[in-house]
Amino acid sequence: MSHDPHCIFCKIVAGQIPSRKVYEDEDIFAFHDIAPWAPVHFLLIPKLHIPSMAQLAPEHERLMGKMMVLAPKLALEQGCKPYPEGGFRVLANTGLEGGQEVHHLHVHVMGGPRPWLKG
Ligand code: 5GP
Ligand code: ZN
Repeated sequence: MSHDPHCIFCKIVAGQIPSRKVYEDEDIFAFHDIAPWAPVHFLLIPKLHIPSMAQLAPEHERLMGKMMVLAPKLALEQGCKPYPEGGFRVLANTGLEGGQEVHHLHVHVMGGPRPWLKG
């Protein structure tokens, strides 16, 4: 399934639920987390509905590589200071025990001056 009509992140990609967009291309969408833990906290998601990292297959290598290469660029654009003094955290909660709440694969990118609310 490339799109799940009941998925909130698919609805965000489609513009049916508003979000504060950080980035968009043909494969990827990024938007600010609604409940940020850190001064910079955005989510990077594939437009394709993949429930979690547990469903990744070899055909997703290019897509996931693109997301990982995009993360540092967007982190700097959103105000994270450069490495090594600044930097950022990348997190992908997967499954119940992994703490995943929204079942559309997403990578949290967090950064900015500490303390943070969590983490
Ligand atoms: P998870 O626990 O699944 O890794 O994280 C889901 C994240 O999505 C949470 O940090 C939560 O604040 C964020 N989130 C949930 N619903 C919405 C929404 O409707 N809009 C935005 N921008 N973020 C959301
Ligand atoms: Zn989805």
